[in-house]
Amino acid sequence: MKEATNNMWKTIKHLEEKEYVSVGCIYYKTIETYSELDKLKKDFELQFDNCTMVCPKCFIDAIIPITEDSKLWNLNDRERLELLKDWKTQGFE
Ligand SMILES: [Zn+2]
Repeated sequence: MKEATNNMWKTIKHLEEKEYVSVGCIYYKTIETYSELDKLKKDFELQFDNCTMVCPKCFIDAIIPITEDSKLWNLNDRERLELLKDWKTQGFE
């Protein structure tokens, strides 16, 4: 899935510009919001030679940063979780 690939830099950029960034995990269907770059880096063990984020909980590269270009951006929380659920059905089952 496109949004889950090469997504590290845009996630960092969004956090730096807006002072927060939300990221969804397709596999666990959860959304978390970060306001500190250090915590984001620590949780995702961000490494600059691998630009695709991997979930620290399920170890799957199915992380969707909710940035302006994301299909999740203009949705409310309930709709976001619904769409994560749809993507999981398409991608993992
Ligand atoms: Zn996960």
